[in-house]
Amino acid sequence: MGIEPGLNPNWANQTSNHFRITKSICMKFMLLFLTAVLTGSILAAQEIAKLSEEKSKMLQNLDKQTSHYGEMAMSIWDKAELGFLETQSIALLIGELETAGFDVKTGVANMPTAFIAEWGEEGPVIGMLAEYDALPNMSQAAVPRKEAREDGKPGHACGHHMFGTASVAAAITVKNWLSESGTPGKIRLYGTPAEEGGGGKVFMVRAGLFDDVDAVLTWHPGDANISSPKSTLAAIGAKFTFTGKASHAAGFPDRGRSALDGVEAMNSMVNLMREHIPMESRIHYSIEFGGGAPNVVPAKAIVSYIIRHPDMPVTRDLLRRVQLAAEGAARGTETVVSMEIQTGYFNIMPNAVLSKLVHENMKLVGGVSYTEEELAFAEEINTSFAKPVNPVLANTIDPYDPNPPVVSASTDVGDISWVVPTSSLRAATWVPGTSAHSWQSVAAGGMSIGRKGMMVAAKTLAISALDLYKQPGLFAAAKKELIEKRGADFKYEALIGDIDPPLDYREGY
Ligand SMILES: [Zn+2]
Ligand SMILES: [Zn+2]
Repeated sequence: MGIEPGLNPNWANQTSNHFRITKSICMKFMLLFLTAVLTGSILAAQEIAKLSEEKSKMLQNLDKQTSHYGEMAMSIWDKAELGFLETQSIALLIGELETAGFDVKTGVANMPTAFIAEWGEEGPVIGMLAEYDALPNMSQAAVPRKEAREDGKPGHACGHHMFGTASVAAAITVKNWLSESGTPGKIRLYGTPAEEGGGGKVFMVRAGLFDDVDAVLTWHPGDANISSPKSTLAAIGAKFTFTGKASHAAGFPDRGRSALDGVEAMNSMVNLMREHIPMESRIHYSIEFGGGAPNVVPAKAIVSYIIRHPDMPVTRDLLRRVQLAAEGAARGTETVVSMEIQTGYFNIMPNAVLSKLVHENMKLVGGVSYTEEELAFAEEINTSFAKPVNPVLANTIDPYDPNPPVVSASTDVGDISWVVPTSSLRAATWVPGTSAHSWQSVAAGGMSIGRKGMMVAAKTLAISALDLYKQPGLFAAAKKELIEKRGADFKYEALIGDIDPPLDYREGY
C-alpha cells in the first residue's frame, strides 16, 4: 500500500487512506443511492464527490491526532477509576472538549461525574457517548500474560478508557467540520459514568437529557470490527430483605422466625418457576447476608436478584412473579419482606438504518495493519485461551448481519435506544477471542493494539455523523424505525423507578 506524500507517517499502518477511499467511492455511490431511496432525495454526483473529500479530510485529521488521543486513553487506563469516582478521568476529557470550544455542564442528573458537552446553535442533534469507569480487582500490566500492576486494584477490563477517548475525538472532529463547513447541526457528547453496575445513563435518560436528540452514535471496545443491529437483554436488579425474629436456636427455636427461611423458601419457589418462564429468561441470585451465627435464629437475611430477558415488558413481568414468590415465602415463614430496586436496563433497541450507515462507513475506514511486535503480543495472548483463535488479530471489517443473535448481557445504553435512534459499533481493541472483563482485555487495551482499534471507532463515528448531517432524511428514517419497533404509544418509564444514583456503590473497593 502506497503512502501519499505529506501525510502523517502513521498513515502507513492505517488502511484508511485516499487510495482506499477512492476505491470505495463506487460502494459509496450504492449506499447513497439506497439512502436516497429511503429519504426521497438524490445527491448529485458532485455532492457525492465532495462528501468523499470531506470524509477523507476528517480521517486525515484524526490520523494526525493518533498519538495525542493514545496518550489520553493511556492516562485514563493508568488511573483506572471506578464508577462514580471517575473525577480525574473526566477532568481530562472535559479539558479536551473545553479547549475545542464545547460548552460543558458537569454534575448532570445528580451525578458528580456525569457531564454534557455541546457545540452548535441550531439544526439536528447527534449524541455520542463516553464511558470511563474501570472494574474492581482487574489490575493488569500491558503484557501478554496474567500479571497485575498492583494486586487487588481496579483495571480497565471493559476498555472504557478507549471508549471515552475515541468518542471525544470523534465529537471534536465533527465539531471542527460543522464549524468549517457552516453546516447547521449540534454535536453533543454525553459523559456517562458508572456503566459497570451503576447505570449512569439510565439516570440521564430519566432526567430527560436525551429528549431532543435526533440520533445517538456510539461504540464499544471488542475483539472484532463490526456494526450490526444487535440487541441485549433487559435487566432488573432487586434486593429482597427478609426480617424475622431472633431467638436461641437450640433453647427457644419456637419463639424465633427465621429470615433465612424466608430467603430459602423464596429461592426454592423461583427455582420451581424456571420451568414456566420464557426460555430466553435469565434469573440469578446471590444471598448477600444469611443471618450470621448458626446458633441464633436469623432475624435478617438478604438475597439479591437479577432478572433478564430480551424484551423489557417480559422482564418487568418476571419481576412481578419473583415478587409474588417473595411475598409467598414471607407469608409461609411468618417473616416480613421488602424489595428495593437497584438497577434496571432496557434491552437495546437496534436501529437498522443507523447500523447499516455505520457499517458502510466502517468499511471506508477499514481495519488496521499490525506490527510484528503486536502480532507476537497477540500470539502469546492467544495461547492463554482454552480454544486458540485464528487469525490472532482482527484487521478486517466483519460483514453486515441483519439478524444477529441477542448479546447475552445488559447495558445502560438500552434505555437511550428506546428514546433516541441509536447505533453501536464494536471496534477490535482486543485480541480475537478476548472476553470483556478479562485480564487479556486490560492487557491489549493498555498497548497499541487497543489504541489502533480505538481510532477505527473514532473515525467511523465521525464520518457517520457527517453523513447524517448531510442527509437529514436519514434521521427521519431512523426515527420511523424506532417508533415502529417500540410502538407509537410508548412512553419511557425507567425500570428503576425514582431511586437516586447509587453514588457510593464502589466505595471501599
Ligand atoms: Zn463491562
Ligand atoms: Zn463496557
